Amino acid sequence: MSHLITKTHLPLFLNNQFIPMFTVYVFGCLLTTNSKTSPIMVSFSLSLLFLYSYFIHVGFHNLPNTMNIHLTHHHNNHDEHNKSSLCRVTGWMLEFTTNVLFFALFYWFQILVNVHVVPDVLIFYYGFIYVTIHNINYSLFHSATEHVLHHTTTDSTSTTCNYGPDLVDHLFRTKYNNKTFENYNHITPNILVSFLVTSCFFNR
Ligand SMILES: [Zn+2]
Ligand SMILES: [Zn+2]
Repeated sequence: MSHLITKTHLPLFLNNQFIPMFTVYVFGCLLTTNSKTSPIMVSFSLSLLFLYSYFIHVGFHNLPNTMNIHLTHHHNNHDEHNKSSLCRVTGWMLEFTTNVLFFALFYWFQILVNVHVVPDVLIFYYGFIYVTIHNINYSLFHSATEHVLHHTTTDSTSTTCNYGPDLVDHLFRTKYNNKTFENYNHITPNILVSFLVTSCFFNR
């Protein structure tokens, strides 16, 4: 972690990611005021989900090929231009479902072990942000070069990198170019919409 607290890295993080991430936290606090979840617990819960979303993605990259929906349908970009529209839509829907499954698994795991550390409202709120960023900002609009690289560097001959979230790639040294931080301006609409949808859904 100390490798991030340097003259070069810290200002880049503050310029590119601090405000969107702090906004996620503040809205997380607002969404949990009724359940009396403390700001410290919100911080812990969101940090846990932040790390989880990295490791579950890495985990899906390491599943056996026969059952690997993520690699088979989301990382087979070699013939992207030759794919039919139906094939592309199907691949997109499968990845959307896979991403939703990431957070459904987290939710079910807490029920299974009967330990409710992370409030359901935060799983939904963070999951909504994650799923929409990956499936809309990254997949449809290619909003970040970091994620484009994740797709171009995950063949069998190169090292896997840029799983996201960007800061976790920095922490675990899986960032392709560790001198850059993804500019998170593009995730502002995802945060705002997620806050509104979560507020309505959980009736707060
Ligand atoms: Zn992707
Ligand atoms: Zn991937």
